Amino acid sequence: MSANPPYTLAGVMGWPVSHSRSPILHNHWIGELGLRGAYVLLPVQPEQLETALRALPVLGFAGCNLTIPHKVAALSIVNRLDSVAQRIGAVNTVVVEPDGTLTGHNTDAFGFIQSLLDAQPDWRADRGPITVIGAGGAARAILAGLLDQGATEIRLVNRSSDKATEMALEFGSLVRAVSWSERSEALRGASLLVNTTNQGMHGQEALDLELDALPTAALVCDIIYVPLETPLLLKARQRGNPTVNGLGMLIHQARPGFKAWFGAMPQPSAALMDKVLASF
Ligand code: NAP
Repeated sequence: MSANPPYTLAGVMGWPVSHSRSPILHNHWIGELGLRGAYVLLPVQPEQLETALRALPVLGFAGCNLTIPHKVAALSIVNRLDSVAQRIGAVNTVVVEPDGTLTGHNTDAFGFIQSLLDAQPDWRADRGPITVIGAGGAARAILAGLLDQGATEIRLVNRSSDKATEMALEFGSLVRAVSWSERSEALRGASLLVNTTNQGMHGQEALDLELDALPTAALVCDIIYVPLETPLLLKARQRGNPTVNGLGMLIHQARPGFKAWFGAMPQPSAALMDKVLASF
């Protein structure tokens, strides 16, 4: 008699965590691929993060995702970090190794780059200057992804200019901080514009940015996914720029974790996008 295939458990730790769309993604793929397992919400208070992470192997979990506020705190808890998580300075995916130790990964950069490639399969990071607006947590993943892909010049603009200056220093000479007052001029000759601020998100003001200097061939990406078309993307589309919203990044960043835990690389699909969109 053949043994049952393994039942695999994974989840997302956050505080709060009930808003997370990750269970929709992973449970969809578990069903689609005919696997045995479940992906669950794990509400974990900040002071319990280490206890909860150390309990993963004891409880038979293959690993977990981390969301607010745990992504940075986990850096010093896991047993090892991959080079991307180290560079970004945050962990969003934890894998339990066969010996019970924990490896921290960050898949946001992968998710972002894949979402650009979905929109333009021949997209290349070295096509010309890239302008990134915002210098928060998401911007760190975007910078790491773009540099790994061979970006040659990144102009980093943030409302609080000291943060952009610090981040540019940290990421090296290909990243140059540009002051907030120069943000519209920083679009001149750019091949890609990325908004990583929360401006344009549902309930927030639109991003205050004139696009006149941006070439119409430039790809415009907003990593916000509520709404799917932010005022920035609408303005860009209306003047002829190709655009990318944040839904692809959200879906693609989940794929490497799923592969590590469940053993198969899942694919995005129209059915999955519909499920995620229906949850907003
Ligand atoms: P964060 O660390 O809090 O950073 C927020 C950024 O927004 C900072 O650069 C901040 O500038 C800027 N900002 C806030 N209010 C502003 C204003 N009034 N004018 C100009 N800039 C302003 O947040 P985060 O984690 O990086 O997330 C940022 C956005 O990315 C959120 O909308 C989030 O939903 C989205 N996101 C999407 C994905 C995805 O998978 N698609 C993944 C991660 C994040 P200051 O430094 O001046 O405050």
